[in-house]
Amino acid sequence: MSCLFDIISRLAGPFPWKEQYATASAAKGRLHGPYFSSIECKSMTVVTRFAPSPTGFLHIGGARTALFNKLFARHHGGKYLLRIEDTDKKRSTQDAIDAIHDALSWLDLDCDGPAVSQSAQRDRHAEVAQQLLDMGHAYKCYATPEELTEMRAQQKAAGQTTRYDGRWRERDPSEAPAGVDPVIRLRAPQDGETVLQDMVQGEVTVANAQLDDMILLRSDGSPTYMLSVVVDDHDMGITHVIRGDDHLTNAFRQIQLFKAMGWEQPIYGHVPLIHGPDGAKLSKRHGALGAEAYRDMGFLPEALRNYLLRLGWGHGDDEIISDEQATEWFDGSGLGKAPARFDTAKLTALNAHYLKTAENARLAELIKPSLETLSGIPMSELSTERLLAGMESLKERSKTLNELADSAALYVRPRPLEMEPKAEKILNDDARAVLATARKSLESLQPWTADALEAWAREYADNNDLKLGQLAQPLRAAITGSNVSPPIFEVITIFGRDESLSRIADISGNH
Ligand code: GLU
Repeated sequence: MSCLFDIISRLAGPFPWKEQYATASAAKGRLHGPYFSSIECKSMTVVTRFAPSPTGFLHIGGARTALFNKLFARHHGGKYLLRIEDTDKKRSTQDAIDAIHDALSWLDLDCDGPAVSQSAQRDRHAEVAQQLLDMGHAYKCYATPEELTEMRAQQKAAGQTTRYDGRWRERDPSEAPAGVDPVIRLRAPQDGETVLQDMVQGEVTVANAQLDDMILLRSDGSPTYMLSVVVDDHDMGITHVIRGDDHLTNAFRQIQLFKAMGWEQPIYGHVPLIHGPDGAKLSKRHGALGAEAYRDMGFLPEALRNYLLRLGWGHGDDEIISDEQATEWFDGSGLGKAPARFDTAKLTALNAHYLKTAENARLAELIKPSLETLSGIPMSELSTERLLAGMESLKERSKTLNELADSAALYVRPRPLEMEPKAEKILNDDARAVLATARKSLESLQPWTADALEAWAREYADNNDLKLGQLAQPLRAAITGSNVSPPIFEVITIFGRDESLSRIADISGNH
């Protein structure tokens, strides 16, 4: 019998976690009865998965799902897998698959081992449909599309909910009309209830009478999404499925399928979807939806992770939660039932925190491409040195990497400086004259430190009947080309005596 492991082994070479999957599946046998508790998880190898459909970018809600699944697996010392649900060939694109991998990798949410492609398991899905047929848990339905349309119209007219009425459930295939390719449907239980013990929602029950006999294999032989998900979850040894609550209703059908195959079902946790600030489901009109858009806006991956973690999960009043703490605390409890609202201001505040604590060299590396674009020249060693020297003050004042790059550009822009309009205004004739004389006094200043420079400026202003601002603002404009900068005496120290004097001379040379 072909199974997912063998297929992947053939495609991707050795399949390192094959044994662990097997262990996990075996261990799952111990999980009959009550649903999730952390104690139960300790007795088994937890295997989670993130299963995006590659029809676009990695949605921010998908990123949160990936995070939850990774943290849960890490907390229990288990595996976190990725399955690309690419069975809808019309809507799935390679670009979207690449974008998902990119965004996951940026967020440090890469899975353990190679990703599974759902479409590659098609034969295995069809094989399971055949097994269900052989066991009598599925049957062939020869109803034509026209017939079904008519059935639904009649149900509607009678004020009933539209559902497949089971017309081929007990019929013999010998009665099949000629020329109709059948679909295969699950012979779902008609009495009783399907009960879901959900990690987030608690116990949720649906009367089986409400669930009709779903299609497993279409008339062209292609497996349906519902069948594919169940077979893959089983074959990958998935023990826990954390996903958006838009899949809650699917869970009941999926449980029926697990039962029909005699397979142990995973433990589900359906997390409420993320809402916008107005309380409506997060959608395009709320702005950016893709994780990569947040990278482009200058957010750090750890800030976004921390933010997403708090969207729908809590640990007391903790807001700033490191990856280590998250792994330690994320045991499946603490997931909220109420939808969380996306709040960009909160994310920005968290980002400011992570910027302040990030290593200077890493930040310099992260903003380098933007700096090269802003300055129009490649970063030199000298610029990098200056940038690193100024980073402490720069990062204190920035909320995003983009803000950081904007304010850091002063260390990279080449001379002669292009003056911003406000700097140009500061540098009127009087100011230029002040700079010309002050420059001479500065030539011999010892030592060249921020404190000494500030003391010099105060004294010089005093002696020359100037307010400190009348000296410091022209200095700032001449040295940075702007009216705003980190503390100017620090900037002057970082540029050093020669460079600073040259910049002042660029402005005041004619006076
Ligand atoms: N592919 C589904 C989605 O992107 C997820 C399915 C699942 O997690 O079971 O919404």
